[in-house]
Amino acid sequence: MDHTLVNNLKKIKNEVILKKKDCEVIAVSKTFDIEKIKPLIDHGHRHFGENKVQEAIDKWTDIKIEVNDIKLHMIGKLQSNKVKHAVKIFDYIHSLDSIKLAKKIHEEQIKIQKKLKIFIQVNLENEEQKNGINPLGLDELYNFSTKNLDLDIIGLMCIPPISLKPKDAFNTMRDLNNKIGFKDLSIGMSSDYLEAIDLDATFIRIGSKIFGERD
Ligand SMILES: *Cc1c(COP(=O)(O)O)cnc(C)c1O
Repeated sequence: MDHTLVNNLKKIKNEVILKKKDCEVIAVSKTFDIEKIKPLIDHGHRHFGENKVQEAIDKWTDIKIEVNDIKLHMIGKLQSNKVKHAVKIFDYIHSLDSIKLAKKIHEEQIKIQKKLKIFIQVNLENEEQKNGINPLGLDELYNFSTKNLDLDIIGLMCIPPISLKPKDAFNTMRDLNNKIGFKDLSIGMSSDYLEAIDLDATFIRIGSKIFGERD
C-alpha cells in the first residue's frame, strides 16, 4: 500500500505538536476520490474538508455510515438551495456569511434535529471574488445567528486576501476572534499553516500538502 498521504499528514501533525498548540488538521480532499482518501481514514484520521455539496454526498455518504465518527467540513461557498443537503452530510460549515444563509441553515437543522458547528467566513478586504462578510457586519450576523436562530457559531474563518501577508491577515482574524470571545479559529492552508498555528488557529485546512496538486 502507498503510505505517502499518511506520511504527509503525519509530518504536519508533528509540526503542530512541536509548536505545542491545540490545532486540528482538516484534510481537504476535494477533487480526490474516496480510494485515494481511504488510507487516511484507516490510519485513524477523522476530519476532512470538501467544497461542493454534491461531491461530498457522492463520496462520503457510505463511508460516514461505516465510520461514524468522521467529521466532514464544508469549506466552500454554500448556496441556499444546497443547504438542505449540506446540513445532512456535513458536521461543520466554515462559510456562513449572510443572515439569509443563517436562516436557511436554521430552518433545515430544525427539520432534522441536527446542530452543526459553524464558522463565519470573513472577507477582510472586500474582495469581489471571495465569499465572506465584511468585518463591519460581523457583530450583526453573529448576534442574529446566535440569539434569534440559536446557531452554534464557534469561530471565524478566512482565506487571506491577496493584498495582505497571510501573517497580517491572521493577526487581524485573531483579534476579531478574541473580541467576540470565540475559542475556535479556521485559518491556514498548505502555503501558510505554520504561521496560522503560531497565531492560534484551532483548525488548519490542508489540501495539496497532503494529497498533492489538484488538476
Ligand atoms: C481548497 C481549499 C483549501 C486547501 O487548499 P491547499 O492550498 O491545497 O491546502 C483550504 N481552504 C479552502 C477554503 C479551500 O477551498
